[in-house]
Amino acid sequence: MIRHMLVLGALGDLAARYLLPALARLREAGELPEGFRVSALARDDQDTPGYREFAGENLAEHAPDTPEAARSGLVEALEYYQADVTDPERIKAALGDSGEPVIVYLALPPAVFAPTIEALGEAGLPEGSRIVVEKPFGEDLESAQKLNRLLHDTFPEEAVFRVDHFLGLQTVQNVLGLRFANRVFEPLWNHDHVERVEIVWDETLALEGRAGYYDSAGALKDMIQNHLLQLLCLVGMEPPLTLHERDLRDRKVDLLRAVRRLSPEEIEELTVRARYTAGRIADREIPAYADEEDVDPERETETFAEVTLFVDNWRWSGVPFTLRSGKALGQDRSEVSIHFKPVPHSTFAPEAKPEPNVLTLGLDPDRISLDIEINGPGESLDLEHLELGSELSPQKIPAYGRLLLGILEGDPTLSIRGDEAEESWRIVEPILEAWNADKVPLREYPAGSGGPS
Ligand code: NDP
Repeated sequence: MIRHMLVLGALGDLAARYLLPALARLREAGELPEGFRVSALARDDQDTPGYREFAGENLAEHAPDTPEAARSGLVEALEYYQADVTDPERIKAALGDSGEPVIVYLALPPAVFAPTIEALGEAGLPEGSRIVVEKPFGEDLESAQKLNRLLHDTFPEEAVFRVDHFLGLQTVQNVLGLRFANRVFEPLWNHDHVERVEIVWDETLALEGRAGYYDSAGALKDMIQNHLLQLLCLVGMEPPLTLHERDLRDRKVDLLRAVRRLSPEEIEELTVRARYTAGRIADREIPAYADEEDVDPERETETFAEVTLFVDNWRWSGVPFTLRSGKALGQDRSEVSIHFKPVPHSTFAPEAKPEPNVLTLGLDPDRISLDIEINGPGESLDLEHLELGSELSPQKIPAYGRLLLGILEGDPTLSIRGDEAEESWRIVEPILEAWNADKVPLREYPAGSGGPS
């Protein structure tokens, strides 16, 4: 395993809230190699003791369940380098002269990805090094292709890890277990039996001070282009031969290639974009998105996006897949639900109306449930609706920990391959273009509501 990691953008939110806590958890689980160390790079005038203090405080806040010994062990392995990471000389200083391969994690604003990759190329990383690129990977198809070309000028594809942390979520990985380790679901997993599929990530969280990033992204780019399309891949793909990265990622790309690029008429009919107005969520007063600090209301950034897609292949022909994500909604709801078709003929009295079965994979908290119909306790042939559900044990290693473990082991199964990233943009780009051209009106919904009506 590689023992040296460079975190570029080490004072940022991602490093503080996710990367350091994930590393501490891996350390606790004994998954970090002997002598593992982190060089933390950022622009602030800071030194190693100051950075260690920053890390200790953030670990106490964001990894309180990780034992103190693991947290302080990680803190001691941190070294700070004040650096503009687009400067190859500063990268060389952080690399040192050991010649050992490194993992370089770009925890940076996307605008800095390209100059940083160029600087890494100029600095010359030791043989066998790996590079980790955060989302969003490009802002449209052309920029994603450009970023891929730039990466491939310096690194072979197997050294590039494009992050989508949803792939590290236990429930997301459970889609594979559920589909391919059980006989009962797969025969029904097609257009003969499935009426529609919903993939939803609704949040009660509003902007929470992240206008700097979010106002230039919006819900479609922030959630649907990456996380929810990844879920669509796992739910819809053909069974891979093995779970080896090549087999799995080939099947995901096949699925993405089968997703229809919506026509202008379909975009008007099958997509919704909206923005929250002022409202109340529990005891919180939420200002209108347009009035949030650092938001440019003229940009018309959507905080709610819904897109219905079709997978034009033998298995899924005609089945709508609705992907939806919104902020400042009245309820947190994150799930994949498979809605089965009604029974072909009801044997019961007309008023009994058997409800179609729904299989739901709750993503947060982790839960699986199946809604079925049975005979109820009343009249002997009455029907009763029953939910068979199970809470899953909490994830021991957080999503970022699972991703980092794959990167340390050199296994890209949980990372996005270059062609996958481009295919995702191919699907989303026409929608973005139509929205930017105002072909779909920007609707509104009060914060705390269920979204636009
Ligand atoms: P932040 O803006 O909080 O942090 C970025 C860090 O990069 C800052 O410390 C910034 O320093 C530093 N930086 C910027 N330019 C340079 C440079 N030229 N040289 C050195 N340091 C530089 O962003 P986040 O941590 O939130 O996000 C980082 C990445 O992670 C983004 O791609 C984001 O999309 C992704 N991400 C973030 C998530 C989150 O919840 N935060 C979740 C999922 C993905 P300075 O203050 O000096 O500008």
